[in-house]
Amino acid sequence: MNRSSLTNPTTRQHLLAPSAPGAPFGIYLHIPFCARICPYCDFNRYAHQEPLIPAYVDALIGEIALTRAAYGPLRAETIFFGGGTPSLLEPEQVARIIEVLRREFELDPAAEVTLEANPERLGDGKLAGFRAAGINRISLGVQTQQAHGLRILGRAHKPEVPERALREARVAGFDNISLDFIFGWPGQTVDDWQRDLDTMLAWQPEHLSLYSLIVEPGTPYHEAVRTGKLVPVDDDTTADLYEMAIDQLGAAGWQQYEVSNWAREAGLESRHNAIYWRNGEYLGLGAGAHGHISGVRASKLRLPAKYIAEVNAGRLPLDMSETIDAPTAMAETMMLGLRLLQDGVSATAFAARHGRDLRDVYASQIAALEELDLLHWHGDRLKLTHRGLLLANDVAERFLPE
Ligand code: SF4
Repeated sequence: MNRSSLTNPTTRQHLLAPSAPGAPFGIYLHIPFCARICPYCDFNRYAHQEPLIPAYVDALIGEIALTRAAYGPLRAETIFFGGGTPSLLEPEQVARIIEVLRREFELDPAAEVTLEANPERLGDGKLAGFRAAGINRISLGVQTQQAHGLRILGRAHKPEVPERALREARVAGFDNISLDFIFGWPGQTVDDWQRDLDTMLAWQPEHLSLYSLIVEPGTPYHEAVRTGKLVPVDDDTTADLYEMAIDQLGAAGWQQYEVSNWAREAGLESRHNAIYWRNGEYLGLGAGAHGHISGVRASKLRLPAKYIAEVNAGRLPLDMSETIDAPTAMAETMMLGLRLLQDGVSATAFAARHGRDLRDVYASQIAALEELDLLHWHGDRLKLTHRGLLLANDVAERFLPE
């Protein structure tokens, strides 16, 4: 842990230029409020705290000003409102935040500006308001179109709601829409998933994120599994569902460019998330937000009320920061980069960044994973094989620093 490198603005001034010149830089804003809590979710999110939203938006704007005052203007190519449920904000609040970001930082005029939205409560011109506020990409949490699946996942909306939201988003002028779906939820059948895949293909969004349900410790789901009230889908079935998605989306021309992400065509990939997968740099603003700049990873205070109080006291709401050592930085480049299926990890780029040859650093791991047909070389790029894709998390673990 190293608090001083982020808390002393005079030493940070020079560090805030992204370390790889020209590499995209992103700004993540965390909106930690939700109308209700889904039983599988372990994010930093809070229900029944909507009255705090106006003060929270003021605090976000305060944090932007504090960041600018401490470190000077940052250049950024992407902005991402994540949560939580950012669509609980009013469009005017989003507009204020974007306006201040544009004023205080050097934003690319063609920046990708994404807002995560839950499909309910998006009527009454709210989507048009977000578009007018400067949002140009919506990420909509559909999860499943099966009514019993929505009940099991504890989602508030009915199946007809996402379709309406998608239609309204198109009318509002959004031409870059991503949909989130979850597979492997308890009780899900192959037929359920087939219907969801048919829906995705019929709706033709620009982008899809498909996540397998993970039972995270500390969640109500975890407790339900522990006490036998809930039976999770077994790993083999989850792998079968994942392969169905790979095969059918691939056959329909979709490009799987990352383990959990598909673009309808080249150029529609998530530019913001690509910064994470390339182990790039980004500023995290808001309660519990993480950032990664110049070899330092930092996070902000998690509780919204504490976060607001800290900003109102004129201090950067830092929770912790740590300097990433060389073995960890190299491991992160491998673990994240291998998720990018077409790009993989380039040995040339790795050497330019870390000053080491990845063939030396990871000689034994690579040999073992090639032997198991989990990794292979394409020129100077190390990539997952199809088998490696199905075991991507296991492959990543092999690169953890000892
Ligand atoms: S809406 Fe999203 S962030 Fe909120 S509880 Fe559900 S899964 Fe978690």
